[in-house]
Amino acid sequence: MAKSFACRDIGMSCGFRARAGNESELMSKIAAHAKEAHNMAQIDAATMKKVKAAIKEE
Ligand SMILES: [Zn+2]
Repeated sequence: MAKSFACRDIGMSCGFRARAGNESELMSKIAAHAKEAHNMAQIDAATMKKVKAAIKEE
């Protein structure tokens, strides 16, 4: 089952969506996006918690 994430689900307005075959693949896509688009070299624990809660199964 694929997993997906959308930034707007955690209150970001950038319109980014990611989809991957598993959570670790998805997390690496999200981490790369967070770094480029949101200037987060590292996703902090509070944001990580929101991200994980917003990941959907497809
Ligand atoms: Zn974003």
